[in-house]
Amino acid sequence: MSQLRAAAAAGGLRRSGGRAVPAARRSRKGASPRGGTQAPPPTPHVFSDPAEIGALRRNLLAWYDRCKRDLPWRTLAATEPDADRRAYAVWVSEIMLQQTQVATVIDYYNRWMQKWPTLQALAEASLEEVNELWAGLGYYSRGKRLQEAAKKVVSELAGRMPRTAEDLQKLLPGVGRYTAGAIASISYGQLSLQATGVVDGNVIRVLCRLRCIGADSSSPAVIDQLWDMANALVDRSRPGDFNQALMELGATVCVPKAPLCRECPVKQHCRAWRRVEKELAFASQKLFGKPTPVPDVEDCGVGGCPLCPPAMEPWDSSLGVTNFPRKAAKKQPRVARTATCVLERRGCHGAPEYLIVQRPSSGLLAGLWEFPSLPLDQDLQEEKQREALADHLRAWTGWPVVAGGLRFVGEVVHIFSHIHQTYVVYSLPLDGDVTLDPALTPSRWVTEEEFHASAVSTAMKKVLKAREKQRGEESSPGKGSKRKRATKPQGANSTRPGTQLSLRAFLRPPTSP
Ligand code: SF4
Repeated sequence: MSQLRAAAAAGGLRRSGGRAVPAARRSRKGASPRGGTQAPPPTPHVFSDPAEIGALRRNLLAWYDRCKRDLPWRTLAATEPDADRRAYAVWVSEIMLQQTQVATVIDYYNRWMQKWPTLQALAEASLEEVNELWAGLGYYSRGKRLQEAAKKVVSELAGRMPRTAEDLQKLLPGVGRYTAGAIASISYGQLSLQATGVVDGNVIRVLCRLRCIGADSSSPAVIDQLWDMANALVDRSRPGDFNQALMELGATVCVPKAPLCRECPVKQHCRAWRRVEKELAFASQKLFGKPTPVPDVEDCGVGGCPLCPPAMEPWDSSLGVTNFPRKAAKKQPRVARTATCVLERRGCHGAPEYLIVQRPSSGLLAGLWEFPSLPLDQDLQEEKQREALADHLRAWTGWPVVAGGLRFVGEVVHIFSHIHQTYVVYSLPLDGDVTLDPALTPSRWVTEEEFHASAVSTAMKKVLKAREKQRGEESSPGKGSKRKRATKPQGANSTRPGTQLSLRAFLRPPTSP
């Protein structure tokens, strides 16, 4: 199976409900790659009949009015009288929905709007608070950029959101063509200077199927064509509802793997569906021995058409409408291994506490908290991994941590968008109160509850879960644990209750297994 076809079979561009913007378009914020004149696309790939456009708008809007999901940002957009608050509410939802499913976003959105109901409130928040609320939602730079943009609106635009898609895109960092179009059409509706369409992952899928666009849907030529189509289709009197309806159709009916074509309100306008129907009719006639004319499969008929599936990758009847959209296969994610250590102690009432450190303020998971970690070379033997981690902890603490003192917990795999990350997890028990040198990497002790309320990534939550599972197995009588955890400090590390000591005093040599 080719790369393009594999992508089509795997569900097209995006997860259902995702709002991501293709990389090709993200990197071209505000710019059109088309210079000078360009031949209009062949007729089968466009909507050229005003009557059909009118019918599609009516059918889609009627379906949306009947079937739209009740979502908190829609309620706010429909009921909030203040235009700036309305635009802010839509903006937050659109940023959260990038690469993230609606069901996941709802809780985050409600908590966010409760904590920061206005741009001004968000502008006054700290990045730490933003990261804490965003923890688990992924793609953490989104929250940071949102807050930076809110600060800009407050400090440079007197708290007033730009009123057109063009200005939104031009003036707000992190707001691209799609998000600007969504905010302008949904928040301002009739007030926008010009009705504007939107193109996100769901819309790309729907439009490619409606017009049998089988060229790489992340290519600039196809993206531009889809924007032109979205702008031509958008209903002039209800632009916000129309755009949401198109996205809703992609999220709930025209889904990546098993679209519900028979229930689709625009199937009569869908060339991919029409083609499937014709092939079925043809097969049925053939089965019953009736004359079998060659079916009109609505090929574009234009040699070298830039929007048709490539000649080497023609329509595949077994895929039906999911022939579209197609996209070049993603680059394989980079494989990475990291050693991480759960440093733990008994807190008050005997409950465990964990030491977490803060990541640098730029790069992957910027500013988030994690267990002390060390990237590992690939193919490093287990023994060497342990030694490398012990060396790292030793350099950090100055205490003679030995490799044998690190207890292996297990391996935790987490997939980031571009990294296949394996955490090799160890634990190291400590005892007593510990103060840390503030000149070191920011760090702090947290209870389990505090850990989950902190700005920690989902990957780190998985790491802690692995450690807790191991502890549960060790303490369960039925599991026959052979290892007992020492609860008292020993030898030189012993301490009187209530004595405040340095970290190195508590990084004691390993307990006996
Ligand atoms: Fe999508 Fe099927 Fe509707 Fe066409 S008919 S738009 S493929 S759900």
